[in-house]
Amino acid sequence: MDVASVLCMNPPGDGKKSYANNSLLQRIVISKSKPFLVETISNVVRSMRRSSSSINGGWPACFRVVDLGCSSGPNTLQVISEIIDTINDEVICNQLEEDIDPEIQVFLNDLPTNDFNGVLKDVPTFYNQHSKNKLRCFVSASAGSFYGRLFPRESLHFAHSSYCLHWLSKVPDGIDEENRGNIYIGKSSPPNIYKAYKEQFEKDFSNFLKLRCEEMKARGRMVLILVGRSILHPLASKSCFPIWDLLATSLMDLVAEGLVKEDDLDSFNMPYYSPHEEEVRKIVEKEGSFSLDKLETFEVNWNLREAITMGEGTFVSNENQSGQIVSNYIRAIVEPMLIHHFGEAIIDKLFEIYSDHITEHLCFHDSKHTSILVSITKKVENTKKC
Ligand code: SAH
Repeated sequence: MDVASVLCMNPPGDGKKSYANNSLLQRIVISKSKPFLVETISNVVRSMRRSSSSINGGWPACFRVVDLGCSSGPNTLQVISEIIDTINDEVICNQLEEDIDPEIQVFLNDLPTNDFNGVLKDVPTFYNQHSKNKLRCFVSASAGSFYGRLFPRESLHFAHSSYCLHWLSKVPDGIDEENRGNIYIGKSSPPNIYKAYKEQFEKDFSNFLKLRCEEMKARGRMVLILVGRSILHPLASKSCFPIWDLLATSLMDLVAEGLVKEDDLDSFNMPYYSPHEEEVRKIVEKEGSFSLDKLETFEVNWNLREAITMGEGTFVSNENQSGQIVSNYIRAIVEPMLIHHFGEAIIDKLFEIYSDHITEHLCFHDSKHTSILVSITKKVENTKKC
Protein backbone atom coordinates (compact mmCIF):
# COMPACT_ATOMS: atom_id res chain seq x y z
CA MET A 1 0.00 0.00 0.00
CA ASP A 2 1.38 3.39 -0.98
CA VAL A 3 0.14 5.20 2.12
CA ALA A 4 0.73 8.73 0.85
CA SER A 5 -1.59 8.15 -2.11
CA VAL A 6 -4.39 6.20 -0.39
CA LEU A 7 -4.49 7.90 3.00
CA CYS A 8 -6.98 10.69 2.57
CA MET A 9 -9.71 12.05 4.81
CA ASN A 10 -13.18 12.01 3.22
CA PRO A 11 -13.53 15.19 1.15
CA PRO A 12 -16.19 17.88 1.79
CA GLY A 13 -18.10 16.70 -1.30
CA ASP A 14 -19.08 13.72 0.85
CA GLY A 15 -21.23 15.98 3.06
CA LYS A 16 -22.35 13.96 6.07
CA LYS A 17 -19.48 11.55 5.56
CA SER A 18 -16.81 14.23 5.20
CA TYR A 19 -13.91 14.67 7.60
CA ALA A 20 -14.94 18.32 8.03
CA ASN A 21 -18.29 17.15 9.47
CA ASN A 22 -16.79 14.29 11.47
CA SER A 23 -13.81 15.76 13.25
CA LEU A 24 -15.37 16.71 16.57
CA LEU A 25 -13.05 14.38 18.46
CA GLN A 26 -9.99 16.06 17.00
CA ARG A 27 -11.55 19.45 17.79
CA ILE A 28 -11.97 18.41 21.44
CA VAL A 29 -8.32 17.34 21.48
CA ILE A 30 -7.26 20.70 20.03
CA SER A 31 -9.27 22.58 22.63
CA LYS A 32 -7.92 20.43 25.50
CA SER A 33 -4.38 21.06 24.27
CA LYS A 34 -4.85 24.82 23.97
CA PRO A 35 -3.35 25.81 27.36
CA PHE A 36 -0.26 23.69 26.57
CA LEU A 37 0.07 25.27 23.12
CA VAL A 38 -0.44 28.82 24.41
CA GLU A 39 2.13 28.34 27.17
CA THR A 40 4.70 26.92 24.75
CA ILE A 41 4.26 29.71 22.22
CA SER A 42 4.40 32.39 24.90
CA ASN A 43 7.70 30.88 26.05
CA VAL A 44 9.02 30.85 22.47
CA VAL A 45 8.22 34.54 21.97
CA ARG A 46 9.65 35.54 25.35
CA SER A 47 12.85 33.58 24.91
CA MET A 48 13.36 35.12 21.45
CA ARG A 49 12.95 38.57 22.93
CA ARG A 50 15.38 37.74 25.75
CA SER A 51 18.00 36.49 23.30
CA SER A 52 17.83 39.66 21.18
CA SER A 53 21.47 40.47 21.89
CA SER A 54 22.75 37.16 20.47
CA ILE A 55 23.66 36.72 16.79
CA ASN A 56 20.60 34.64 15.84
CA GLY A 57 18.36 36.11 18.50
CA GLY A 58 15.65 38.74 18.62
CA TRP A 59 12.26 38.88 16.99
CA PRO A 60 12.64 37.78 13.35
CA ALA A 61 11.53 39.86 10.38
CA CYS A 62 9.15 37.00 9.66
CA PHE A 63 8.17 34.28 12.14
CA ARG A 64 7.59 30.99 10.28
CA VAL A 65 5.13 28.41 11.50
CA VAL A 66 3.86 25.12 10.09
CA ASP A 67 0.88 22.97 10.99
CA LEU A 68 1.82 19.46 9.85
CA GLY A 69 -1.14 17.30 8.80
CA CYS A 70 -3.58 20.24 8.85
CA SER A 71 -6.34 18.37 6.97
CA SER A 72 -9.35 20.44 5.84
CA GLY A 73 -12.35 21.56 7.82
CA PRO A 74 -13.05 23.70 10.87
CA ASN A 75 -10.01 22.41 12.82
CA THR A 76 -7.45 23.58 10.28
CA LEU A 77 -7.69 27.32 10.78
CA GLN A 78 -8.72 26.91 14.44
CA VAL A 79 -5.19 25.82 15.39
CA ILE A 80 -3.63 28.58 13.33
CA SER A 81 -5.93 31.15 14.98
CA GLU A 82 -4.78 30.04 18.42
CA ILE A 83 -1.14 30.28 17.40
CA ILE A 84 -1.54 33.71 15.80
CA ASP A 85 -3.62 35.17 18.64
CA THR A 86 -1.09 34.00 21.21
CA ILE A 87 1.84 35.46 19.32
CA ASN A 88 -0.08 38.67 18.70
CA ASP A 89 -0.92 39.03 22.41
CA GLU A 90 2.70 38.38 23.35
CA VAL A 91 3.93 40.86 20.78
CA ILE A 92 1.59 43.54 22.11
CA CYS A 93 2.31 42.72 25.77
CA ASN A 94 6.01 42.89 25.15
CA GLN A 95 5.73 46.18 23.30
CA LEU A 96 7.93 45.40 20.32
CA GLU A 97 9.81 48.41 18.99
CA GLU A 98 7.52 50.66 16.95
CA ASP A 99 9.64 50.35 13.81
CA ILE A 100 9.18 46.59 13.66
CA ASP A 101 6.12 45.45 11.76
CA PRO A 102 5.74 41.89 13.02
CA GLU A 103 4.89 39.35 10.33
CA ILE A 104 4.10 35.67 10.43
CA GLN A 105 4.10 33.16 7.61
CA VAL A 106 1.94 30.10 8.18
CA PHE A 107 2.34 26.92 6.15
CA LEU A 108 -0.53 24.45 6.13
CA ASN A 109 0.94 21.06 5.37
CA ASP A 110 -0.77 17.82 4.46
CA LEU A 111 -0.49 15.06 1.88
CA PRO A 112 -1.11 16.14 -1.74
CA THR A 113 -4.50 14.35 -1.67
CA ASN A 114 -5.77 16.79 0.99
CA ASP A 115 -8.52 19.26 0.02
CA PHE A 116 -6.24 22.32 -0.01
CA ASN A 117 -8.72 24.22 -2.22
CA GLY A 118 -11.32 23.96 0.53
CA VAL A 119 -8.88 25.22 3.15
CA LEU A 120 -7.59 28.10 1.05
CA LYS A 121 -11.12 29.28 0.23
CA ASP A 122 -11.55 30.11 3.93
CA VAL A 123 -8.34 32.10 4.15
CA PRO A 124 -9.77 35.53 3.12
CA THR A 125 -12.39 35.27 5.92
CA PHE A 126 -9.62 34.22 8.27
CA TYR A 127 -7.55 37.29 7.28
CA ASN A 128 -10.59 39.50 7.94
CA GLN A 129 -11.10 38.01 11.38
CA HIS A 130 -7.48 38.79 12.24
CA SER A 131 -7.26 42.15 10.49
CA LYS A 132 -7.14 44.06 13.77
CA ASN A 133 -4.06 42.16 14.92
CA LYS A 134 -0.75 43.98 14.98
CA LEU A 135 0.78 40.81 13.60
CA ARG A 136 0.40 40.51 9.83
CA CYS A 137 -0.23 36.99 8.65
CA PHE A 138 0.44 35.21 5.34
CA VAL A 139 -0.99 31.72 4.84
CA SER A 140 0.17 29.23 2.22
CA ALA A 141 -0.24 25.54 1.54
CA SER A 142 2.57 22.99 1.59
CA ALA A 143 1.71 19.66 -0.02
CA GLY A 144 3.89 16.67 0.79
CA SER A 145 4.62 13.97 3.33
CA PHE A 146 6.17 15.02 6.61
CA TYR A 147 8.29 11.87 6.24
CA GLY A 148 10.24 13.81 3.61
CA ARG A 149 11.84 17.27 3.58
CA LEU A 150 9.21 20.01 3.17
CA PHE A 151 11.06 23.28 3.87
CA PRO A 152 14.48 24.86 3.32
CA ARG A 153 17.17 24.40 5.93
CA GLU A 154 16.74 26.31 9.17
CA SER A 155 13.71 28.23 7.98
CA LEU A 156 11.05 27.42 10.62
CA HIS A 157 10.57 28.85 14.10
CA PHE A 158 7.66 26.73 15.24
CA ALA A 159 5.94 23.52 14.15
CA HIS A 160 2.67 22.03 15.32
CA SER A 161 1.00 18.73 14.57
CA SER A 162 -2.17 17.29 16.03
CA TYR A 163 -3.39 13.71 15.65
CA CYS A 164 -1.23 12.87 12.63
CA LEU A 165 1.89 11.04 13.74
CA HIS A 166 -0.01 7.81 14.38
CA TRP A 167 -0.12 7.50 10.56
CA LEU A 168 2.96 5.54 9.58
CA SER A 169 4.84 6.00 6.31
CA LYS A 170 3.98 2.39 5.48
CA VAL A 171 2.53 -0.82 6.87
CA PRO A 172 5.42 -2.71 8.55
CA ASP A 173 6.99 -5.22 6.14
CA GLY A 174 6.14 -8.90 6.21
CA ILE A 175 3.21 -8.96 8.62
CA ASP A 176 0.37 -10.00 6.28
CA GLU A 177 0.93 -13.73 6.56
CA GLU A 178 0.92 -13.72 10.33
CA ASN A 179 -1.74 -11.19 11.20
CA ARG A 180 -4.71 -13.13 9.87
CA GLY A 181 -8.11 -11.83 10.90
CA ASN A 182 -6.63 -8.63 12.32
CA ILE A 183 -6.02 -5.26 10.76
CA TYR A 184 -3.73 -3.90 13.48
CA ILE A 185 -2.27 -5.28 16.73
CA GLY A 186 -5.30 -7.39 17.54
CA LYS A 187 -6.42 -9.90 20.11
CA SER A 188 -5.00 -12.84 18.17
CA SER A 189 -1.88 -11.12 16.75
CA PRO A 190 1.39 -12.91 17.55
CA PRO A 191 3.94 -10.82 19.55
CA ASN A 192 6.10 -10.06 16.50
CA ILE A 193 3.24 -8.00 15.03
CA TYR A 194 3.47 -5.58 17.93
CA LYS A 195 7.27 -5.56 17.54
CA ALA A 196 7.02 -4.82 13.80
CA TYR A 197 4.59 -1.92 14.38
CA LYS A 198 6.66 -0.53 17.23
CA GLU A 199 9.84 -0.61 15.12
CA GLN A 200 8.12 1.04 12.16
CA PHE A 201 6.88 3.84 14.43
CA GLU A 202 10.37 4.26 15.88
CA LYS A 203 11.83 4.53 12.36
CA ASP A 204 9.17 6.98 11.17
CA PHE A 205 9.11 9.19 14.24
CA SER A 206 12.94 9.34 14.37
CA ASN A 207 13.02 10.28 10.69
CA PHE A 208 10.34 12.94 11.30
CA LEU A 209 12.47 14.45 14.10
CA LYS A 210 15.65 14.39 11.99
CA LEU A 211 13.92 16.13 9.07
CA ARG A 212 12.32 18.80 11.25
CA CYS A 213 15.69 19.39 12.87
CA GLU A 214 17.05 20.21 9.42
CA GLU A 215 14.20 22.60 8.74
CA MET A 216 14.06 24.38 12.07
CA LYS A 217 16.08 27.26 13.37
CA ALA A 218 18.21 26.91 16.49
CA ARG A 219 15.93 26.60 19.53
CA GLY A 220 12.94 26.10 17.20
CA ARG A 221 10.05 24.55 19.08
CA MET A 222 7.48 21.87 18.19
CA VAL A 223 4.21 20.97 19.86
CA LEU A 224 3.10 17.47 18.90
CA ILE A 225 -0.18 15.91 19.91
CA LEU A 226 -0.32 12.16 19.38
CA VAL A 227 -2.98 9.52 19.67
CA GLY A 228 -1.48 7.37 22.40
CA ARG A 229 -2.22 4.35 24.50
CA SER A 230 -2.24 4.00 28.26
CA ILE A 231 -0.93 0.42 28.43
CA LEU A 232 2.80 -0.02 27.88
CA HIS A 233 2.51 -3.64 26.68
CA PRO A 234 -0.61 -3.78 24.50
CA LEU A 235 -0.62 -7.58 24.41
CA ALA A 236 -1.20 -7.57 28.17
CA SER A 237 -4.67 -6.21 27.53
CA LYS A 238 -7.51 -8.18 25.91
CA SER A 239 -8.64 -5.26 23.82
CA CYS A 240 -6.25 -2.39 23.70
CA PHE A 241 -7.46 -1.05 20.35
CA PRO A 242 -11.23 -1.67 20.19
CA ILE A 243 -11.74 0.77 17.29
CA TRP A 244 -9.64 -1.42 14.96
CA ASP A 245 -10.62 -4.73 16.60
CA LEU A 246 -14.26 -3.94 15.88
CA LEU A 247 -13.52 -2.89 12.31
CA ALA A 248 -11.69 -6.22 11.81
CA THR A 249 -14.70 -8.06 13.33
CA SER A 250 -17.03 -6.21 10.92
CA LEU A 251 -14.84 -7.19 7.96
CA MET A 252 -14.89 -10.76 9.23
CA ASP A 253 -18.70 -10.64 9.26
CA LEU A 254 -18.54 -9.68 5.58
CA VAL A 255 -16.12 -12.56 4.91
CA ALA A 256 -18.70 -14.90 6.51
CA GLU A 257 -21.36 -13.46 4.21
CA GLY A 258 -19.09 -13.99 1.19
CA LEU A 259 -18.87 -10.25 0.48
CA VAL A 260 -15.17 -9.94 1.29
CA LYS A 261 -12.48 -12.48 0.35
CA GLU A 262 -10.59 -13.85 3.34
CA ASP A 263 -7.29 -13.20 1.53
CA ASP A 264 -8.23 -9.56 1.10
CA LEU A 265 -8.84 -9.22 4.83
CA ASP A 266 -5.60 -11.04 5.65
CA SER A 267 -3.59 -8.77 3.39
CA PHE A 268 -5.00 -5.56 4.87
CA ASN A 269 -3.23 -3.91 7.80
CA MET A 270 -3.49 -0.38 9.04
CA PRO A 271 -0.50 1.97 8.56
CA TYR A 272 -1.14 3.16 12.11
CA TYR A 273 0.53 3.05 15.53
CA SER A 274 -0.52 4.67 18.79
CA PRO A 275 2.53 4.80 21.06
CA HIS A 276 2.84 4.80 24.83
CA GLU A 277 4.25 8.01 26.33
CA GLU A 278 7.44 6.17 27.37
CA GLU A 279 8.05 5.13 23.76
CA VAL A 280 7.71 8.74 22.63
CA ARG A 281 10.06 9.96 25.35
CA LYS A 282 12.69 7.30 24.50
CA ILE A 283 12.63 8.04 20.76
CA VAL A 284 13.05 11.80 21.30
CA GLU A 285 16.00 11.13 23.64
CA LYS A 286 17.62 8.50 21.41
CA GLU A 287 17.24 10.46 18.16
CA GLY A 288 18.86 13.43 19.88
CA SER A 289 17.95 16.43 17.70
CA PHE A 290 15.49 17.91 20.17
CA SER A 291 15.34 18.19 23.94
CA LEU A 292 12.09 17.27 25.61
CA ASP A 293 10.69 20.27 27.49
CA LYS A 294 7.41 18.80 28.59
CA LEU A 295 5.30 15.69 28.10
CA GLU A 296 1.73 15.40 29.34
CA THR A 297 -1.11 13.00 28.71
CA PHE A 298 -4.84 13.43 28.89
CA GLU A 299 -7.81 11.21 28.23
CA VAL A 300 -10.42 11.71 25.55
CA ASN A 301 -13.68 9.90 25.35
CA TRP A 302 -14.11 8.61 21.82
CA ASN A 303 -17.75 7.92 22.63
CA LEU A 304 -18.11 11.70 22.09
CA ARG A 305 -20.56 12.07 24.98
CA GLU A 306 -18.04 14.49 26.40
CA ALA A 307 -19.02 16.76 23.52
CA ILE A 308 -22.39 17.29 25.16
CA THR A 309 -20.93 18.88 28.27
CA MET A 310 -18.53 20.94 26.19
CA GLY A 311 -21.46 22.12 24.07
CA GLU A 312 -19.43 21.37 20.98
CA GLY A 313 -21.69 19.06 19.08
CA THR A 314 -25.18 17.83 18.61
CA PHE A 315 -26.88 16.09 21.50
CA VAL A 316 -26.12 12.37 21.66
CA SER A 317 -29.10 10.79 23.34
CA ASN A 318 -28.41 7.07 23.37
CA GLU A 319 -25.73 4.47 22.70
CA ASN A 320 -27.22 3.70 19.33
CA GLN A 321 -26.58 7.20 18.10
CA SER A 322 -23.15 7.19 19.75
CA GLY A 323 -22.27 4.05 17.77
CA GLN A 324 -23.39 5.73 14.56
CA ILE A 325 -21.40 8.86 15.32
CA VAL A 326 -18.21 6.92 16.09
CA SER A 327 -18.74 4.84 12.96
CA ASN A 328 -19.12 8.02 10.85
CA TYR A 329 -16.04 9.50 12.45
CA ILE A 330 -13.89 6.44 11.64
CA ARG A 331 -15.42 6.22 8.17
CA ALA A 332 -14.37 9.82 7.44
CA ILE A 333 -10.77 8.82 8.20
CA VAL A 334 -10.40 5.41 6.58
CA GLU A 335 -12.98 5.19 3.78
CA PRO A 336 -10.64 6.03 0.85
CA MET A 337 -8.07 3.52 2.17
CA LEU A 338 -10.72 0.79 2.53
CA ILE A 339 -12.15 1.50 -0.92
CA HIS A 340 -8.67 1.21 -2.38
CA HIS A 341 -8.25 -2.29 -0.90
CA PHE A 342 -11.75 -3.80 -0.75
CA GLY A 343 -13.65 -1.81 -3.40
CA GLU A 344 -16.57 0.56 -2.94
CA ALA A 345 -19.42 -1.96 -2.99
CA ILE A 346 -18.99 -3.16 0.62
CA ILE A 347 -18.49 0.20 2.30
CA ASP A 348 -22.08 1.14 3.30
CA LYS A 349 -22.76 -2.34 4.64
CA LEU A 350 -19.41 -2.48 6.44
CA PHE A 351 -20.09 0.72 8.36
CA GLU A 352 -23.66 -0.34 9.20
CA ILE A 353 -22.27 -3.49 10.84
CA TYR A 354 -19.46 -1.50 12.43
CA SER A 355 -21.91 0.96 13.94
CA ASP A 356 -23.78 -1.96 15.59
CA HIS A 357 -20.55 -3.43 16.98
CA ILE A 358 -19.53 -0.03 18.38
CA THR A 359 -22.98 0.43 19.94
CA GLU A 360 -22.71 -2.92 21.67
CA HIS A 361 -19.16 -2.19 22.80
CA LEU A 362 -20.11 1.18 24.26
CA CYS A 363 -22.78 -0.44 26.43
CA PHE A 364 -20.22 -2.50 28.31
CA HIS A 365 -16.80 -0.87 27.98
CA ASP A 366 -14.89 2.22 28.81
CA SER A 367 -14.25 4.32 25.71
CA LYS A 368 -11.38 6.51 26.84
CA HIS A 369 -8.16 6.78 24.95
CA THR A 370 -4.96 8.61 25.79
CA SER A 371 -3.56 11.62 24.00
CA ILE A 372 0.09 12.56 24.36
CA LEU A 373 1.23 16.18 24.31
CA VAL A 374 4.89 17.00 23.85
CA SER A 375 6.83 20.20 23.57
CA ILE A 376 10.37 19.81 22.22
CA THR A 377 13.14 22.30 21.38
CA LYS A 378 15.84 21.93 18.76
CA LYS A 379 19.19 21.62 20.47
CA VAL A 380 21.54 24.49 19.63
CA GLU A 381 24.46 22.13 18.99
CA ASN A 382 22.44 20.56 16.16
CA THR A 383 22.09 23.81 14.25
CA LYS A 384 25.05 23.27 11.93
CA LYS A 385 24.96 19.46 11.93
CA CYS A 386 21.43 19.00 10.53
N1 SAH B 1 -4.65 18.11 12.44
C1 SAH B 1 -5.99 17.88 11.94
C2 SAH B 1 -6.07 16.62 11.09
C3 SAH B 1 -5.91 15.33 11.80
S1 SAH B 1 -6.29 13.99 10.71
C4 SAH B 1 -6.98 17.85 13.07
O1 SAH B 1 -6.57 17.83 14.22
O2 SAH B 1 -8.19 17.83 12.80
C5 SAH B 1 -4.66 13.48 10.22
C6 SAH B 1 -4.12 14.26 9.05
O3 SAH B 1 -2.76 13.91 8.90
C7 SAH B 1 -4.81 13.93 7.73
O4 SAH B 1 -5.24 15.08 7.08
C8 SAH B 1 -3.73 13.20 6.94
O5 SAH B 1 -3.82 13.40 5.53
C9 SAH B 1 -2.47 13.84 7.51
N2 SAH B 1 -1.26 13.02 7.31
C10 SAH B 1 -1.11 11.71 7.58
N3 SAH B 1 0.13 11.30 7.23
C11 SAH B 1 0.76 12.40 6.73
C12 SAH B 1 2.06 12.63 6.20
N4 SAH B 1 2.96 11.64 6.11
N5 SAH B 1 2.39 13.87 5.80
C13 SAH B 1 1.49 14.89 5.89
N6 SAH B 1 0.23 14.72 6.38
C14 SAH B 1 -0.12 13.50 6.80
